[in-house]
Amino acid sequence: MTHQEIISFIKNQFNNQERIALHQPFFGGKEKEYLNRCIDSTFVSSVGPFVDQFEEDIKKYSGTDYAVAVVNGTAGLQVALQLVGVKRDEEVITQALSFIATSNAIHFAGANPIYIDVDYDTMGMSPTSLLNFLECYGEIRTNECYNKKSGKRIAACLPMHTFGFPCRIDEISKICHDWAIPLVEDAAEALGSEYKGKKIGSFGEIAVFSFNGNKIVTSGGGGVIVTNSQHLAKRAKHLTTTAKLPHPYEFIHDESGYNFRMPNINAALICAQLEQLDSFIENKRALAKSYSNFFAFNPIFRTEMTDTKANYWLNCLEFSSLNERNSFLELANQQGVMCRPIWTLSYLLPMYQNCQRDNQENAEILYDRIVNIPSSFRN
Ligand SMILES: *Cc1c(COP(=O)(O)O)cnc(C)c1O
Repeated sequence: MTHQEIISFIKNQFNNQERIALHQPFFGGKEKEYLNRCIDSTFVSSVGPFVDQFEEDIKKYSGTDYAVAVVNGTAGLQVALQLVGVKRDEEVITQALSFIATSNAIHFAGANPIYIDVDYDTMGMSPTSLLNFLECYGEIRTNECYNKKSGKRIAACLPMHTFGFPCRIDEISKICHDWAIPLVEDAAEALGSEYKGKKIGSFGEIAVFSFNGNKIVTSGGGGVIVTNSQHLAKRAKHLTTTAKLPHPYEFIHDESGYNFRMPNINAALICAQLEQLDSFIENKRALAKSYSNFFAFNPIFRTEMTDTKANYWLNCLEFSSLNERNSFLELANQQGVMCRPIWTLSYLLPMYQNCQRDNQENAEILYDRIVNIPSSFRN
């Protein structure tokens, strides 16, 4: 199969439009109605009925007991890490193969990332590598985990579900439990995905979804913290709304809180989008099916693993080498078919180059070979 044949097939899936986006939002429901209602009410900012409605809706959808709407996924991850106890100069285990926001959230929480390799098949954190790392460097002292190399506390583990394909989250969860490490899921890309019949976002202490413009549903910008812990949920709400104590008129704050609350106008948009999420996922799974039929048994196209359901947020192809992926990217983008490589591994970037990491064999292979191809909702 030539690169040109692949590109022609992609074009065909999107009615041969002149320019085919990697992922564009689709507004096919009550978006305008809700936005108008929001403006008419004058409640466009951080208090309003759509924020409350959204929190109810996302709780039901993700199967978690509590939800706190925030300004974006990065802010949500930062707060989530702080809530599970991450403090300045501590360490958080994560993966280098992720969007930069994962590492940035750790940095903004004051901690340093440790990079564990991903599994080749899931593209998410490898439980085998995690366990190997902990057996080599981990040490439990009074029910907390310390890194024997740095002497610092390993305060959390933050795996990510790449492109909506679930990682082996139950194995990771068990290891974290055994090693007394709180688990936070970066579920930014995986709203609606499932692992062994259970929605992603309910495996750790806390999880975060993103509703940035390029995600499966969007609030323009936004995110949400979900958890089954009432205590964490209360703390999340408090810390993201300037830590103000309830009072009819006095301004009393009991700690330095953030202004991270999702505005009502963004919540209006996401409420309308969530009503369409099931149909979006069906639509995207149909596109993935066409791709997978086209590629037949050619493993170049990535499909969901057994025991999982992917939301197919972004479809991806695996080429045989860096050269092949580069020549494909060049040709596709020349022809207006927006394709892009997977993210540059975080430790290759100047801010994170000195972070501790294990062998990154799979991350490096995937970085050389994986390309995202157009994956928008088809009208
Ligand atoms: C999008 C994304 C985020 C951050 O979300 P924002 O809402 O853009 O801040 C975090 N992690 C991953 C893996 C993402 O893809």
